[in-house]
Amino acid sequence: MENKINITLSTTRKEKPNPETLEFGRVFTDHMFVMDYSVTKGWYDPRIVPYEPISLSPSTMVFHYGQTVFEGLKAYRTKEDEIFLFRPDRNFQRMNQSNDRLCIPHIDEQFALEALKQLVAIEKDWVPNLEGTSLYVRPFIIPTEYYLGVAPSKFYRFMIILSPVGSYYKEGIKPVKIYVEDNYVRAVKGGTGTAKTGANYAASLKAQEKAEKNGYSQVLWLDGVEKKYIEEVGSMNIFFKINGEIVTPALNGSILEGVTRNSIIQLLKHWGLTVHEKRISMEDVYNAYKNGQLEEAFGTGTAAVISPIGEFYYNDVQMVLNNGETGEISKKLYDTLTGIQTGTHEDLFNW
Ligand code: PMP
Repeated sequence: MENKINITLSTTRKEKPNPETLEFGRVFTDHMFVMDYSVTKGWYDPRIVPYEPISLSPSTMVFHYGQTVFEGLKAYRTKEDEIFLFRPDRNFQRMNQSNDRLCIPHIDEQFALEALKQLVAIEKDWVPNLEGTSLYVRPFIIPTEYYLGVAPSKFYRFMIILSPVGSYYKEGIKPVKIYVEDNYVRAVKGGTGTAKTGANYAASLKAQEKAEKNGYSQVLWLDGVEKKYIEEVGSMNIFFKINGEIVTPALNGSILEGVTRNSIIQLLKHWGLTVHEKRISMEDVYNAYKNGQLEEAFGTGTAAVISPIGEFYYNDVQMVLNNGETGEISKKLYDTLTGIQTGTHEDLFNW
């Protein structure tokens, strides 16, 4: 591939939003990265261009069968006004794993990272500086062949767009209430759960709607076969502290491997805690709760970093943890990881 990125700067600049009132994913920066793929050329024409709508025929494959992949990561502004990306190599690695599952050609991970760095450098003024805010990075690939057959597309477009996002916790880190979903499932072994592909998120909406109707903020997903074993929470991985030890579901072929999950496991082990990656049932968690051994539960992901869980609704029972307060490990993990991300905490792992 021709590795030179062509840059066309926008002749106008949008007004930057107020960081105090920023939401998630509503405002986009002035530029985006684009490259295309064809069977004969491979990935070609990498370019940074003004952010603008794209025009596609209604028959373009992206509108029909969901052969798409995406990623999500963040750029943070440090106190010294540097811009940090958190483990971006892992996201492009995961994108290629998703590409494998969706029959999409691999991208050159190093080149994609270089493209991202160039784009973020151009858009550096868009990285907000208020505590908890960041510039969300959304790389994605869509099939661009004009064809209604169910088959892998012969043409693709890879794009990276950027969106300044507000603090997830405007009033400080706060536990959420979780609805344990025993009917709808997110993914099954052999399906697409390990890939970051649109269909998984489309499939999750119905249960999320149900949880919200019942006054819960997110869904706890059980396995797709027996609906017994714990998989994920919302679009986060999940951890428990049971009797002093940490337990998280083992990667089983239907769980998405989070970059945050991987980082948390390394941090916890570094602190000397025992971490078990194993199959864990909701029954196990309920029994631990009844015995007074369920000390903490939390979700992990790029958006919230750590999302402490204050309550589970399971089989008509409300299980309240820590009086609905944030647990000690959840808080320590949140402070450490956000500290590493924004340069205020020593980065032992070179993340
Ligand atoms: N599970 C799912 C289904 C997700 O969408 C995400 C967010 N990417 C995660 C887990 C957490 O992954 P990460 O820590 O890389 O954000």
